[in-house]
Amino acid sequence: MNVEIFEPLPARVVFGAGAIESLAQETRATGLDRVLVLSTPGQRALGERAAAVLGRRAVGVFAGARQHVPATTVHEATQAALDAGADGCVAAGGGSTIGLGKALVLRSGLPFVALPTTYAGSEMTTVWGMTANARKQTGRERSVLPRVVVYDPDLTAGVPATVAVTSGLNAIAHAVEALYAPDGSAPVAAMAERGIRDLAAALPALADGTSDATVRATALHGAWLCGACLGATTMGLHHKLCHVLGGMLDLPHADTHAVLLPHVAALNLPAAPDAEAIVSRALDGHCAVDALRDLARRTAAPASLAELGVRPSQLHQVAEQVLAAPSANPRPIDMSTLVQLLQAAWSGWPAPR
Ligand code: NAD
Repeated sequence: MNVEIFEPLPARVVFGAGAIESLAQETRATGLDRVLVLSTPGQRALGERAAAVLGRRAVGVFAGARQHVPATTVHEATQAALDAGADGCVAAGGGSTIGLGKALVLRSGLPFVALPTTYAGSEMTTVWGMTANARKQTGRERSVLPRVVVYDPDLTAGVPATVAVTSGLNAIAHAVEALYAPDGSAPVAAMAERGIRDLAAALPALADGTSDATVRATALHGAWLCGACLGATTMGLHHKLCHVLGGMLDLPHADTHAVLLPHVAALNLPAAPDAEAIVSRALDGHCAVDALRDLARRTAAPASLAELGVRPSQLHQVAEQVLAAPSANPRPIDMSTLVQLLQAAWSGWPAPR
C-alpha cells in the first residue's frame, strides 16, 4: 500500500512584526486569565516585556528555563506556577523555553502560548523532551502543542549570530529529514522546500550580524515551515544521533545539528533521490550535500564534534545507544557505518560521500 497521510496540527499561528502586541488578546481568546511567563535567565527582559504586554493577566516570570529541559527545572517551574495560581503559561524564547512549556503541560496540565525567538521549531511539534540522569527522554503527545504560536520577527533582533545560525541549521535538518520520512507527503515536501529556501537565503546575512528586518522575517518564516515539517513526520538518523549525543554528553543541541547535518545528508540523500532533488533545488545547488556544507561554511557554523568537546573514546558508546533503538531511515545503518560517520563528524570537513 502506498498512501500519503498528512495531519496538520491544530495550533493557531500569528506571524508578523509587532505580533507580540497580540499576546493579551491571544491568551484571552484561549481562556487564560492568570499566566506565568517562562524564559531563560538570559531572556528575563523578554519575559518581563511579555508580562507587561499581558498586563493584569500576568502572574509572574519564571526565568529558569535551561537547555534539554532538566527534570529539576520542570519541578521548580511547576511549583512556581502552583504558587502563583497560574492557569497557563507563555513560553517566551527558544526551544529550551518552549520545551519547558511542553513539560509543564505534561506535569501540571497547564496550557501555553508560544512566543518563539529562535528557529528551532519546537513550537510546531508534539514532541516533548525531559532530561534526568544524563538521559533525555522524549515522546509525542498532542496535548503539549501550544494553543497559539505568536511569531514576531522583531523578537529575533537580539539573537546572537551563532544561535541564529545553529538553530537555523537545526530547522533545515527538520526539513531534510521530513523529505525522506516514511510518512512524508506533498504538503510536507512543499513546506520543506520553501522552509529550506527561506533559511538558506537568510542565514549568511544573519551570520554577518545583519539587523535587516526582512532577512529576520524570512528566516523566522522558514523556521515556521521547517518546524511544521518536523511536527508532521517521523525523523530519521540525524535527529536520533543528535538526541543521543545531547542526552548522553550534554552537548549544545543546535550546534550538534549543525555539525551533523552535512554528514548525515551525505549518507542518506543518495538513498533518497527525490529528497535530494528538492534539497538541491531549495539551495540552488547542483549537489545537495555540497550546498549544505557550503552553507555551514559560509555561516561559520561549528564544524566538528571535537570542537563541541566530544572525545573519540565516546563515539562507540553513542553508536551503541543509537542502534539500541534504531530510527526510520532511508539507508539501513550498522555499527561500522555509524562509527565511520561519527568519526568523520568528530574530525570535521570534509564529509564522506
Ligand atoms: P535555546 O532555546 O537553548 O536558546 C539558546 C540561547 O539563546 C539561550 O541562552 C537563550 O536564552 C538565547 N536566546 C534565544 N533567543 C534569543 C533572542 N531572541 N535574543 C537573545 N538571546 C536569545 O536554543 P534553541 O536552539 O532554540 O533550542 C534548543 C532546544 O530546543 C533543545 O533542548 C532541543 O532539544 C529543543 N528542540 C525541541 C524540538 C521539539 O520539537 N521538541 C525541536 C527543536 C529543538
